[in-house]
Amino acid sequence: MSVARILSRTQLGLDVPLVQVELHLGRGLPGFTIVGLPAPVVRESRERVRAALLNSGYEFPPGRITVNLAPVELSKQGGRFDLPIALALLIASGQLCAPRSALECYGELGLAGELRPVSGLLLAALHAQAHGHALIVPAANGNEVALSGHGAAYGAASLREAASWLAQHPASAPARLIGNGAQQRPAAPPAAAALADVAGQWHAKRALIIAAAGGHSLLLVGPPGSGKSMLAARLPGLLPPLSHNEALEVAGIASIAGEQLDAGCWMRRPYRSPHHTASAHAIVGGGALVRPGEISLAHHGVLFLDELAEFDRRVLESLREPLETGSITIARAGSRLALPAQFQLVAAMNPCACGYLGDSMHACRCTPGGIERYRQRISGPLLDRIDIRIAVPRLAADELLPGAVERGADERQADAAAQVQAARTHRLHASGALSARLSATLLRECCALPPASERLLRRSCQQLALSGRGVHRLLALGRTIADLAASELIEPPHLAEAIQLRRPLP
Ligand SMILES: [Zn+2]
Repeated sequence: MSVARILSRTQLGLDVPLVQVELHLGRGLPGFTIVGLPAPVVRESRERVRAALLNSGYEFPPGRITVNLAPVELSKQGGRFDLPIALALLIASGQLCAPRSALECYGELGLAGELRPVSGLLLAALHAQAHGHALIVPAANGNEVALSGHGAAYGAASLREAASWLAQHPASAPARLIGNGAQQRPAAPPAAAALADVAGQWHAKRALIIAAAGGHSLLLVGPPGSGKSMLAARLPGLLPPLSHNEALEVAGIASIAGEQLDAGCWMRRPYRSPHHTASAHAIVGGGALVRPGEISLAHHGVLFLDELAEFDRRVLESLREPLETGSITIARAGSRLALPAQFQLVAAMNPCACGYLGDSMHACRCTPGGIERYRQRISGPLLDRIDIRIAVPRLAADELLPGAVERGADERQADAAAQVQAARTHRLHASGALSARLSATLLRECCALPPASERLLRRSCQQLALSGRGVHRLLALGRTIADLAASELIEPPHLAEAIQLRRPLP
């Protein structure tokens, strides 16, 4: 046989289109050409395949070798096509029989013939499974592929292992099939830090419960050491575990970002906390291979930005699109690509540059102009998209002592996660989305205001000079607070609490 075909997939953001690796072995002067829009690293595949073949005890066939990666218009990156090219060469030169059923192969070859892991295989495996294709992947990607639940995937450590599995497939039982994903998934996510561990800060804890119940973004403003990070880390523990499909999306994004997939974190909501010095690229995503940024890695989870005012202005402004739409558009050479980024934002900042404005223990050294400049680093449009803005003051010494924890209050918060879950379930059932994500039309349908609430809203619109967006965000917040109280109407106390939580910067 002089023409051989093996399937593989390329990676375009979260898309993994099928690529046919066609290899022709012809007469003529010895040569090895790869065509079909390959990146330089794919062209270098020739040298790796040649060395791996020889070092694995195979013959490198004399003659003219042409490899076509079809369809040609798709861009192809990375070393993932090494294994399909090497196997196609073995088949075309008669050293191996062609597979009798559709087969997808992935893996970068080392010069000695060992198979190295590649990124993004979870998504490829899910698609291969949907199309009923068998799969050969590097053994090091085994855990990731197992999550897909693919029943006919083989993890090979070397070219030799891949070829000998292919020689038996599907006649005899595979030698080392990757385990059924279901067995590797832990039944329940590990418990996250509990809200009850935080002393005092009842106001902030209540804000966290409301944020969790409605999917609202949250800004905590307070002096250093007031426990803002500790509070933010409690949010994932209030959120329900991911659904199966959400978990696959989260794992798929982590997989194309080349993050190590930890089966222990399966179903657990991601919690990302990039440092303020991180580049726009690292936070938003991008690059030739379109690596997802922190905002996509936080999809369905929590993005915590500490020291919000210290982040690059471009990074802060780029948060507006995902906060609005739940996805981010990344411009690449000649095309645009959307990545999911439906995260819940928790941000923290000091009240001023020195950090001690309004503090009970330290005096603030900032000038009024300095305070103004510091606050202007967060633009009005961004602040408008943060539903809840609260002050987190330093606790007095007696509130920090172990005996100071109010028992009754603790019990009230003990079932916080259950309250959150009930409110979320009700809203998802009634409106199809959490209130923070409802469109203006859908929100109006589910926001019945009794006359007293109507009057309160009118008054606060005038006093706080609310924008159209401001009123919308306020009503969404009121809806969540009413949901937590299991009330169909947004009563004046619900609306009043929403107004308290949505003040200008504290
Ligand atoms: Zn200050």
